[in-house]
Amino acid sequence: MKVLKGGNGRMELVAGAGGFIGGHLVNHLISQGLEVKAIDVKPMGDWYQVNPGALNQSKDLKLKEHCDVVTRGVSRVWNLAADMGGMGFIANHKAACMMSVLINTNLLDAAKNSGVENFFFSSSACVYPDYRQEKASVIPLKESDAYPAQPEDGYGWEKLFSERMCRHYLEDYGLRTYIGRFHNVYGPFGTFDGGREKAPAAICRKVAKAKLIGNKEIEIWGDGEQTRSFMYIEDCIKGTTDLADSTFHEPLNIGSAEVVAINQLVSIVEEIAGIKVKRKYDLSAPQGVRGRSSDNTLFRSMFGWEPSTSLQKGLEITYEWIYNQLTKAN
Ligand code: NAD
Repeated sequence: MKVLKGGNGRMELVAGAGGFIGGHLVNHLISQGLEVKAIDVKPMGDWYQVNPGALNQSKDLKLKEHCDVVTRGVSRVWNLAADMGGMGFIANHKAACMMSVLINTNLLDAAKNSGVENFFFSSSACVYPDYRQEKASVIPLKESDAYPAQPEDGYGWEKLFSERMCRHYLEDYGLRTYIGRFHNVYGPFGTFDGGREKAPAAICRKVAKAKLIGNKEIEIWGDGEQTRSFMYIEDCIKGTTDLADSTFHEPLNIGSAEVVAINQLVSIVEEIAGIKVKRKYDLSAPQGVRGRSSDNTLFRSMFGWEPSTSLQKGLEITYEWIYNQLTKAN
């Protein structure tokens, strides 16, 4: 096993490292020459990516004793661990989503007790109130729109509560907390099957399967006119690290402002795949809010850029990766 120095106050801890964003973040931090502890509750064989340069461990961070141990010798915590998924998961597992509060609560407290200096929390656009997202023609959400609060029930409430925990650990204990409100992230090495996948990965998988098996009919949740913005993973990692290196401690949107209807998303993937599919709409499936996008005014004013990898480019890479996963599996 790789022995890391630890205890020198320069170690980075990535919680949720076996997941989509965590796996990419570990790779990025290692590429910067940093020492990284990578933790996830899943057995290591199920991690999406395992970087041999990190100290990789399988641990349940809902448990306080595990949080106490893993934060020792750490200067910065990146909390990307959560029991979550796309609409299909969060609409039907509200209690499980809310239990992620144990991860953030115990990690924050352990970080404070271990003398950690910086703590990044991955919040979500699901903190924004339903009443601002009832139309497909969106007004992009700015950070102050989160209140008066009426977030997505379950998952969104947990994120909003945990945002406030971060704020109070900064105010009361001086732990430098950072809160990124991610808007729909997609890319390779993400969930694309099994019930937790989000729209871009689900559509790529369905179109790729249609191409592979020759049955050109795919199911679309809702009428396909609901709108979203989707952020490519590389932009997410850059936005996350820019925020965590800043002196800004209020919640900040990290998202793309390129709005598409799900039907447009399907058309882009069809073009990439080189096929036309027959769309079957399931109006009873979970759809989430009607329209949502990220207002990046604050982000742009702070960092001079914004997540803008085009959906076309990001989906080309993602579709190819998912297509290859499916062909490998058969
Ligand atoms: P993911 O599901 O791929 O990764 C989360 C990881 O956390 C999983 O590997 C899971 O096993 C791990 N985990 C769950 N419970 C744990 C526990 N008790 N102890 C240790 N690890 C545990 O999800 P992701 O897409 O990488 O999301 C990362 C973070 O970003 C999450 O907090 C999520 O809520 C947030 N977020 C993601 C998106 C997105 O579009 N992907 C959007 C908004 C917010």
